[in-house]
Amino acid sequence: MNPISAPEPATKQSTTPKFVFFFGGGRAEGNGGMKGELGGKGAGLAEMTNAGLPVPPGFTIQTEACRQYLRTKSVPATVDQQMEEALQRLEQLTGEKLGDKDHPLLVSVRSGSKFSMPGMMDTILNLGLTDESVEGLARRTRNPHFAWECYRRLIQMFGTVVLEISREQFNAIEAEADGQHDGLERLKKIIARFKDLIRKKTGSDFPQDAHTQLVMARDAVFRSWNNARARHYRRITDIPDDLGTAVNVQKMVFGNMGETSATGVGFTRNPATGAHEFYGEFLPDAQGEDVVAGIRTPRPLAELKELMPPVYDELRRATSLLEKHYRDVQDFEFTIEQNKLYLLQTRNGKRGGRAAVHIALDMIEEGLITKEEAILRVEPNQLYDFLVPTLDESSGNIEVLAKGLPASPGAAVGQITFTAEDAVHMAGPKRNIPVILVRAETTPEDIAGMEVAAGILTSRGGMTSHAAVVTRGLGKCCVAGAGELLIDEKKQEMRVKGHVLHRGDWLSLDGNTGRVILGKLPTRPASPDDPELVRFMALAEPFRKLRVRANADIPRDAVQARAFGAEGIGLCRTEHMFFAEDRIPHVREMIMASGEASRRKALDQLLPMQRNDFLGLFRAMNGLPVTIRLLDPPLHEFLPSHEELMERIRELESSKGSEKELAEARTALERVESLHELNPMLGHRGCRLGITYPEISEMQARAIFEAAIQAKKEGVTVLPEIMVPLVGLAKEFTHQEAVIRRVAEEVFAREGMKIEYMVGTMIELPRACLVAESIASQAEFFSFGSNDLTQTTFGFSRDDVSKFLPIYLERGVLKQDPFAVLDREGVGELIRTAIERGRKASPHLEIGVCGEHGGDPSSIEFLSGTGIDYVSCSPYRVLTARLAAAQAGAASTKKMEGGATR
Ligand code: ADP
Ligand code: MG
Ligand code: MG
Repeated sequence: MNPISAPEPATKQSTTPKFVFFFGGGRAEGNGGMKGELGGKGAGLAEMTNAGLPVPPGFTIQTEACRQYLRTKSVPATVDQQMEEALQRLEQLTGEKLGDKDHPLLVSVRSGSKFSMPGMMDTILNLGLTDESVEGLARRTRNPHFAWECYRRLIQMFGTVVLEISREQFNAIEAEADGQHDGLERLKKIIARFKDLIRKKTGSDFPQDAHTQLVMARDAVFRSWNNARARHYRRITDIPDDLGTAVNVQKMVFGNMGETSATGVGFTRNPATGAHEFYGEFLPDAQGEDVVAGIRTPRPLAELKELMPPVYDELRRATSLLEKHYRDVQDFEFTIEQNKLYLLQTRNGKRGGRAAVHIALDMIEEGLITKEEAILRVEPNQLYDFLVPTLDESSGNIEVLAKGLPASPGAAVGQITFTAEDAVHMAGPKRNIPVILVRAETTPEDIAGMEVAAGILTSRGGMTSHAAVVTRGLGKCCVAGAGELLIDEKKQEMRVKGHVLHRGDWLSLDGNTGRVILGKLPTRPASPDDPELVRFMALAEPFRKLRVRANADIPRDAVQARAFGAEGIGLCRTEHMFFAEDRIPHVREMIMASGEASRRKALDQLLPMQRNDFLGLFRAMNGLPVTIRLLDPPLHEFLPSHEELMERIRELESSKGSEKELAEARTALERVESLHELNPMLGHRGCRLGITYPEISEMQARAIFEAAIQAKKEGVTVLPEIMVPLVGLAKEFTHQEAVIRRVAEEVFAREGMKIEYMVGTMIELPRACLVAESIASQAEFFSFGSNDLTQTTFGFSRDDVSKFLPIYLERGVLKQDPFAVLDREGVGELIRTAIERGRKASPHLEIGVCGEHGGDPSSIEFLSGTGIDYVSCSPYRVLTARLAAAQAGAASTKKMEGGATR
């Protein structure tokens, strides 16, 4: 195959921009490297043409024309000119003429942008047919039925895509015609009524000039860049809005010319499993979209081998050539016209996580790609597929009812219910039914139902909707915003694609693709020990420089994290221990205490419980560091709410409640009121608590050291790192450090045994970053609390961003949610500053990052270049973080070796 060739220089003076790129006759003006200009489809068509593969000839109008069209509502005259020239060239090459009454050229007008947006924009087939030329086509092919069928398809596609008449109206006409006439008569009748519809809706006739059709179709494809579907898709996939689409005008080839013709799609490897097998579907005597439209059931490609052996062989040859050329799995479209094969599209195939790992490993073995490339081929987030159940689709036919957003990965199979209450009822211990909670959207009142459901399905809301966020936290599958579903919560039914589903009906959800599938599919269990995953990670690990720890508060999570490869705990939030049911009374007692003495009494109750928790963590992490953060949140979070107390007081007052209970409730209310803060995120929390109530830090330090000594006595190697939260002043740190070290000495003296430990701080305030040098002259480690650091740097309250962040993202004020993807420009700069200043005081200062960003691949890519030692993330993201960190290493070796860049 030819190497990627340079674009042909513009033939005119260099002042005329080249808008149109021809392909055909074994040669293309563009090439595969020009995705930005020609779109993925156009670049692929050019590359395939250059490679000598059978591609119907045509030309691509580049994306710049689209951008100008969208800005000014028209294209520059040069675009029309160049298009006309290219069209003439196409007519010469094919010996046909657009709109000709004897030898009409038919073309497709296809969208295609830089990044694949499957099915989001529009395409028109069979363009060029008119009342006159359809007769010519019928004569020439001696197949009137075929010709009129193409004409019917054109008018329908043109009517919906260009003239924006709803598809239903065309469908209704067809349905009406059913049974009334036969064959050709029926087609002609339908066409006449289609034309009536167009005249009625637009006030003009379906254009009988083929050139007018072409210009109108081209502009409609340009406009389809901005249709609602496409915009929505770009938002959730982070594709920029300003790229525009190219337009491909291509000679039609016909898969609908009888039994020796067909159309199909395929993959060079199985996209679900990654297995090295030819995979795909085709339909004999069919055109374009028929395969995916689901009107007729397509047949597996293997059957093409029996039906048309030579064509099948040629298809295999051509597509394996493409795979070698692109050095990646290809997803292709083809059409067979009377035993002659044509390729219509090729692109790198999308694949699931398991398939991605399988393919990467295979391709190293085949010598197709290097180890570094293989490591970079797998999306770190895709490794999640190994950690959650997935749908097993090997049984064959499935019916996809709708497609929503893949809001939370995994699979869920269950019976549907429409209320959270009912979900609790159905899933409860008595009935134990796996349920899928179906809601238009979820609200905090649905939590109980969401917790027991196997999966959640909503018809509204995006990737950051309540349903999406909550399910990701619960590690539960969710498909959100499946707009095609009509959910009637009152009637307890759901309508979609002609089905009416009721409570108790089975559904299967695929949280990885957003598909909603009818019925009860089998699932494959999670398999974190999958041998291929293990092999793949073993390849990746040597490239990793960053260490990965986990955020874990309880021993169970710590054990899980360690199984996923965590190299320590980077954040244990002690308040999560406080929230446990058996502790809340003691915690409240401590908070309600009127003075230090009574506070200490309550703390004494908590001490053994905390000690036990820490002991569990130390045992689970034997030999690895455990970072424990002292109490962080404002105290009122542990108290009952104001409303709750008011309610209780009212109750006690009106009924026979005892005086004592009433007095207690009133004191509690007073305390809640006195602790009330206008802005708790910036209030009495973090080390401010430990400084105002040192006895709290004292108790926590004692619990840590006593647990550590006990663990050591059991033979466990303990490495505690005690972390002081929300430090902004070096003095705040030294105050807390003194308390911690004093307690340590006391415990060591009493136990006659010492352990090694570190005292460090969480860096989560801009001030701390700026004075990092003086903090680091005391602290033994830094851990960036990137969530709070983002909050305090932007001045965005984490709890209130939902009011404006979605609008910021929609209007492009922000490109990404800074709480999910680290803001390199601002927060990142503070982090760099703090690292530089901190290491000035203490060159070997240990530095980590805990918080959401520690598990986000793009943030990890940035962080691995800053010189930090580790990231810490939730257990289920450890694998993702390990791969992301390895990729950062692999990318830099690749760069240093000047490895292939594509
Ligand atoms: P999408 O990007 O939505 O896949 P395409 O532009 O690829 O849209 O076209 C939709 C369908 O029409 C595909 O199945 C394709 O194979 C078919 N098609 C497009 N152009 C031609 C052509 N010139 N001849 C025959 N079929 C075509
Ligand atoms: Mg396509
Ligand atoms: Mg914090």
